[in-house]
Amino acid sequence: MLGLMQDRQLLISSLLQHAQQYHPHTEIVSLTCEGETIRTNYAGLAQRSAKLAQSLAALGVKPGDRVATLAWNTHRHLELYYAVSGMGAILHTVNPRLFPDQIDYIVNHAESCVLLFDITFESLVSSLQPKLAKVRAFIAMTDEAHMPVSIEGCHCYETLVEAQDGSYTWPQFDEKTASSLCYTSGTTGNPKGVLFSHRSTVLHSFIACQADGLQLSSADSTLLVVPLFHVNAWGIPYASAMCGAKLVLPGPQLDGKTLFDLAVQEKCTFSLGVPTVWLGFFKHIEETPGVDVAELRLKRVVIGGSAAPRALITKFDKIGIFAIHAWGMTETSPLATIGNLLPKHEAYNEEQKTDVQVKQGRAIYGVELRIIGESGRPLPHDGTVAGDLQVRGPWVTSGYYGGKSGDALDAEGWFSTGDVAKIDSDGYVQLTDRSKDVIKSGGEWISSIDLENAAVAHPDIQEAAVIGIPHPKWQERPLLIAVRKAGAHPSVDDIKLFLAERVAKWWLPDDIIFVDELPHTATGKLHKVKLREAFHAQFNS
Ligand code: ADP
Repeated sequence: MLGLMQDRQLLISSLLQHAQQYHPHTEIVSLTCEGETIRTNYAGLAQRSAKLAQSLAALGVKPGDRVATLAWNTHRHLELYYAVSGMGAILHTVNPRLFPDQIDYIVNHAESCVLLFDITFESLVSSLQPKLAKVRAFIAMTDEAHMPVSIEGCHCYETLVEAQDGSYTWPQFDEKTASSLCYTSGTTGNPKGVLFSHRSTVLHSFIACQADGLQLSSADSTLLVVPLFHVNAWGIPYASAMCGAKLVLPGPQLDGKTLFDLAVQEKCTFSLGVPTVWLGFFKHIEETPGVDVAELRLKRVVIGGSAAPRALITKFDKIGIFAIHAWGMTETSPLATIGNLLPKHEAYNEEQKTDVQVKQGRAIYGVELRIIGESGRPLPHDGTVAGDLQVRGPWVTSGYYGGKSGDALDAEGWFSTGDVAKIDSDGYVQLTDRSKDVIKSGGEWISSIDLENAAVAHPDIQEAAVIGIPHPKWQERPLLIAVRKAGAHPSVDDIKLFLAERVAKWWLPDDIIFVDELPHTATGKLHKVKLREAFHAQFNS
């Protein structure tokens, strides 16, 4: 017998309509590529998104078409989130930090028919234009006064929006319809497209608004640092409309000063970003005379994308901000585990609480997790044994764009994340490595993440990466590559002594190399493939 409940579909347009009706005056503040600050609200977002949907339809965009963007966090990019998905087309956000040939591959692979771009990407788009055969329309996300000159037949975003009256009715369709497309950055092999649905997106939004999720609510002013091109900005643009949170979009400027000043001016209470961004934030605080952290209203900051170093969590703690360590991936929409504390942790001292926070958090409702050993059998959740992390849930991918549903899963529906983790008896996940980054030394595993975290806890180290170097006896040994803080000159022995107090003796790196800069991927993670290319030969000879 079926239940007798209404079969209303979970559509992204319903989030916008809700915000328009119940939070029309809640602000959306955006810095733009033209150097302006735009202040609008959910009523404004809804009206302009409707006009944009009308103009895209007039350009021939149909349900199911892919519409690509190369853009920063601005009000216009946010409008595209709602207009494109709302009309039944698929928003394909492209990471502009990728190499041009990867961008060309991704846009062609997705067969996107429209490309919208910020004017800062004019030369990139102009060089790509001849290769993007399927793109029928190029739209510069600006006004007539700032139109790029080098792109043939380019439309102006503001002109398209202004030409419409906004009398658009958001269509109703199956909630399983594809809503957006995001390619993983492809540090190995070609990027793969993760295709989200309206249903997966709306369900995922509930998690951000849960008290034991990210606690997002109408009381929040959110500084959205994580880019709109990085896994749908971790779902926050949708969740914000669901609960009516204020949104603050930093445009192309992600430097410590801009973020700090925006957080103060807009009384931001909540923010999210990768560790690198927060390192820049603290560099500004620590190195700029006159900066007063007492002006900040930030209460919670989500750190994800790569492991949050203990030192970073402590820095937030010292200025009264709770660092929520979260783990996920493009394939998990991305929220999968969230590092909130449990009631029993209230009795813990600061050090013990940080021990919990450095782990990547617990599965949220809707996400099932397990770890698998080499035999393929599940391992215990005892916080000691590590295995391959697998995940299952309604906002976890089942196959990649162009393939079939189920292609990415095993027979029981589990998705293998490629991460190695331990899970403790409270369910806290602790990532020890990417399976391809773990260092296998004499039959034992050394966690590159743990070693990196131990190294950046040294007051003179700005950033650190650890890779395995082939070794005739031990199979692999760790090499630490570190960037010193400006003006600091620690020696190799200083660092080794420091590490010796923090990690097992056999974990100690055989060598330590200081460099001026470490390579990062397009999503701000350490680019270990490049580091291996650079250092393997040198240490193997
Ligand atoms: P990309 O490789 O394109 O940046 P993702 O954002 O999907 O793609 O990356 C997901 C991966 O990032 C995870 O599988 C994991 O290895 C890593 N990651 C994400 N969050 C964390 C975290 N809190 N701690 C450690 N690693 C993380």
